[in-house]
Amino acid sequence: MTMSEVKVIVRRNRPGTKGAEFCKWPEEPFEEMDSTLAVQQWIQQTIRRDPSNITAILTPPETQDEEVWKYEHLRQFCMELNGLAVKLQSECFPETCNQMTATEQWIFLCAAHKSPKECPAIDYTRHTLDGAACLLNSNKYFPSRVSIRESSLGKLGSVCRRVYRIFSHAYFHHKTLFDDFEASSHLCRRFTSFVMKYNLMSRDNLIVPNMEDGATDAPPAVTETASTPTTTTTTTKVTPVTGNTTESEA
Ligand SMILES: [Zn+2]
Ligand SMILES: [Zn+2]
Repeated sequence: MTMSEVKVIVRRNRPGTKGAEFCKWPEEPFEEMDSTLAVQQWIQQTIRRDPSNITAILTPPETQDEEVWKYEHLRQFCMELNGLAVKLQSECFPETCNQMTATEQWIFLCAAHKSPKECPAIDYTRHTLDGAACLLNSNKYFPSRVSIRESSLGKLGSVCRRVYRIFSHAYFHHKTLFDDFEASSHLCRRFTSFVMKYNLMSRDNLIVPNMEDGATDAPPAVTETASTPTTTTTTTKVTPVTGNTTESEA
């Protein structure tokens, strides 16, 4: 047997890989994944096997550090949310969705600017995903993928809260598109289970209905007072011409 006949498994998509062959390599046991990216590799492998099996995807391998587990899942969510953002670009325009809204209650301010501002929904989506990617890749806050600094853990919750609004905008304003995306990715359902499991968002903020394991069956009733803001939240009240109270939050 010559060297060229020895079968080496390369778990990588080489340039020119056909769509049908994408990521089509044999699975590998967690113990045998020996790079620093093992956790990401494991998560992606479990998603590929069955994206609808949320429990399997969110169950860490034994002895897995929980903080790294949460961090790697959040990275994965942001990557996959880019897929939803690409779809949104075909029907979410600044002219039609000139503010980031979901239900009537909130206008979400974009935190990607020096002072939070009202970006159109599609710009909010791009700016927020860019901001999340910058933060999660930042050497200052997340210099390692093997251990997470205690002081950076608080960042995970605010990333979750901000990117979740992309799901809620899509659900309440682009329902068909949302349903299509969700049917194949199960991403909102997985995200909802994830933030509930690790207590990364308050239940009241999970406004997309029927996400089974996770959120409420119906959007929470409109209240006129904002919940106590955390240190990273700016809550201001604006009164639109209709006279109803609308709250905005970054
Ligand atoms: Zn829109
Ligand atoms: Zn913005």
